[in-house]
Amino acid sequence: MRGQPEGDQGLMSERPDRIVFGRPLMPQQHDLERLLDPVFHSAQLTNGGALHDRLEAALCHQIGGHVSLVSSGTMALMLALRLGGLARGGEVITTPLSFAASVQAIDWCGLVPVFADVEPAFATLCPQAVERAITPRSVAILAVHFQGIACDIAALEDIARRHGLWLVFDAAQAPDIETSGRNICLSGDASALSLHGTKLLSTAEGGAIVLRDAGLAPALARLRNFGLEDGRMTGPGINAKMSELHAAFGLAVLPRVAEETAARRQLRRWYDAGFAGMPGVSVLPPRPGTSESHLYYTLVMPAEQRAATIASLHADDILPRTPFPLLCGPGTMYEGAIVHSSCARAVAGGLAGQYLSLPLHGAIGRAGADRVVQAVRRVLG
Ligand SMILES: *Cc1c(COP(=O)(O)O)cnc(C)c1O
Repeated sequence: MRGQPEGDQGLMSERPDRIVFGRPLMPQQHDLERLLDPVFHSAQLTNGGALHDRLEAALCHQIGGHVSLVSSGTMALMLALRLGGLARGGEVITTPLSFAASVQAIDWCGLVPVFADVEPAFATLCPQAVERAITPRSVAILAVHFQGIACDIAALEDIARRHGLWLVFDAAQAPDIETSGRNICLSGDASALSLHGTKLLSTAEGGAIVLRDAGLAPALARLRNFGLEDGRMTGPGINAKMSELHAAFGLAVLPRVAEETAARRQLRRWYDAGFAGMPGVSVLPPRPGTSESHLYYTLVMPAEQRAATIASLHADDILPRTPFPLLCGPGTMYEGAIVHSSCARAVAGGLAGQYLSLPLHGAIGRAGADRVVQAVRRVLG
């Protein structure tokens, strides 16, 4: 939860064997110090330093597209939208199921969010609902790979092409998903990644934009650096640069990601075995043809059982997490936003009430996995 230590959801007494929801992947301290050594000599702190360029190159290599580092995932979303040169006041069709940042990015760009339904099976933006929400004012689609489940990318790309809409994917919760051997960030016009401490690879705070078309890279470089071109302000811009300190953190964490991913994959298998055949509960599946996420492991259960399940987990000092409330739900600032079709809130809201994400990180281990399964079984088994 934001502003609180990771995993602390307000429980008072901390047990030594508490299983927190997430645990930032930390670098080895000496690796970080070694990387920072040259910074102490050069005193170059930011503005595209050597470490920044190294991290960018490493991510380009890993993802296979053009990667631009920025200061946060939210900034990545904002710049990915700005890159489309969209007219102010234009409508952006998006999902009600996401973190606050995705709709806030639309708003900060002077664009109008329009909420459309999600697919019942995968909880990502429904292509048919998007098509129905298109008006003459539509300029873009912002789709989110929610809880590590890939959107129906091909269908959304087809709609965007046919209607001339800019297509941005929020891949903050799905940085590592592949389809036909390629990273899903190479989809649409641009994808936004978050390098926040709660994500798999982090720079503490940070983000990245992935472009399939490197031809847009110079425009993006200007956008993230005050719109400057040879010192002259030739277009819109902002300060979205990543510092050398953040880049050093990312470079120091990067070599640890593979081992953490393997540990999480193993944990998923233990969970899968534990929940197999348990009545009334299923696991939110990857979309067919895409790989599984290492950020989320989400159970789907009857909404009436969820509170008891959470209580049972809490009783054993295990901290699961429920999805964020609907972005356009009651009491939110987007309650009065354009919601296309009466069921946008109903479908998404119904699903959100059935989801429970379990702790997923490398320190949980076999014994921890068993504890989690037992706590769920006490209610649902
Ligand atoms: C984490 C997250 C973001 C925001 O990223 P920051 O780096 O914290 O700005 C955006 N969208 C989704 C879906 C996220 O989970």
